[in-house]
Amino acid sequence: MKNKVKSMKKKKDWQTKAMKRKHKEHDKGILGIMFIMKHFFRHLTEWIEEMADPRNVSYITYSQSDYIYLGILKNLCGVKTMHSMEEQFNEEACICTLGILSGNAKSTEIPHSDSLNNYLKKLSPDCLAELRKKMIKSLLRMKTFYGNRLLGKYWRIIIDGTSLYYFKEKHCENCLVTTRTMKNGKTLKLYCHKVLEAKLVLSSKIVLSIDTEFVENESENTGKQDCESNAAKRMLARLKQNYPHLPICIQADNLYETEPVIKLCKQYGFRYLLTHKGSRQKLLEESYRLFVENKEAGTADKICAEKGKAVYVNHIERTVEKEYDANIFGYSYSEKKDDGEIKETKFQWITDIELNAKNLEEMIDTGRGRWKIENEGFNNQKNGIYEIEHLNSRNTTAIKNHYLLTQIADIIMQLYLAWNPMRKAVGLSIKNTSSMLLESFRRLQITDEDVSYCSRYTTVYLE
Ligand SMILES: [Zn+2]
Repeated sequence: MKNKVKSMKKKKDWQTKAMKRKHKEHDKGILGIMFIMKHFFRHLTEWIEEMADPRNVSYITYSQSDYIYLGILKNLCGVKTMHSMEEQFNEEACICTLGILSGNAKSTEIPHSDSLNNYLKKLSPDCLAELRKKMIKSLLRMKTFYGNRLLGKYWRIIIDGTSLYYFKEKHCENCLVTTRTMKNGKTLKLYCHKVLEAKLVLSSKIVLSIDTEFVENESENTGKQDCESNAAKRMLARLKQNYPHLPICIQADNLYETEPVIKLCKQYGFRYLLTHKGSRQKLLEESYRLFVENKEAGTADKICAEKGKAVYVNHIERTVEKEYDANIFGYSYSEKKDDGEIKETKFQWITDIELNAKNLEEMIDTGRGRWKIENEGFNNQKNGIYEIEHLNSRNTTAIKNHYLLTQIADIIMQLYLAWNPMRKAVGLSIKNTSSMLLESFRRLQITDEDVSYCSRYTTVYLE
């Protein structure tokens, strides 16, 4: 029996290897990326050229597109440092492909990494944020993703923060101060930069950066918590300004389960779905407990994948006189672990969407999906291909621009991954995908025929 399993496994390995070879033959690598950019963002180069050029235009060799595409390709190909970018991209094929992408026939060399950094030091990060907005808006116009909206109506936007860069010494005026406990028990004072991200959920596999707010130390008197809360307020205001008519549901963990955030959501007409912890909203929690204890809460049994239990109470705000709609719901299930112990898992959320037997399951799945997406999103970006924690420059503006370029590259990468038909079949990891992209960018001589193939209208099927 064991042998049979072994030989089956061998056969499977062999099949996978053969498929991987076949994939390599058919995979157009960088051409696939060009195809995706042309298909989803037909005007990308024009949008880049529309940005306010911070340079003295009488001295320039490279266009803004040369620099921006270079930055995007550095991320897509998983090139970690500016130095290795210069070495890896010093190929005829790279120069030619970059020229085709940017439309600048004059460039006969890949821009020097220092000149890319100098450009990114001067460019206003608002320009790249605006570029990303144009990309996101063109995706939102496509009917492809409509089916994934919450309750068939609301685009889910997940807000979450993470620390990116740590310094032993104060690096700039806006550094946040934090402490870390070392292995020997001593505490170390560190300076860091934190970023708040808003991610738009287009499907379970495509979750894209729609807005970024850099959390900065505002003044010596502003606490860390306030800095984050203020950053969230600025972000919500900008989302409303940039997407005034978009039906949005804001999702976040209980750090943002605060009155100011909830009231802003109400003011802007956003729905909200936040992780609920009793300690954050004490009055609402007490009232919710009473409803549950008195058996006045709505319940559902054997629902969702684990066939667990759900409880919900609508309009708790009426019992405690709050100005905003507050519906609380919970989900729990038990499972037997390997050692025979029974483990119970519980979740709780607060929302202004009225709960009923019909939408309960979707609301639970959506609440839980946030957690999964957050973990995968930042982990992929930190430990996967981009290593967003790596510092490409010490200049604060350049740091922001590098970060935004990674987010823009990630939009293209996620669409590419969802489209690339062979990837799923052979189970290629994201890391492998980016090294294959690097290989093809360095080797593949793109022809005019290839380019016209990219521009031709084709229907794109995403996974
Ligand atoms: Zn700093």
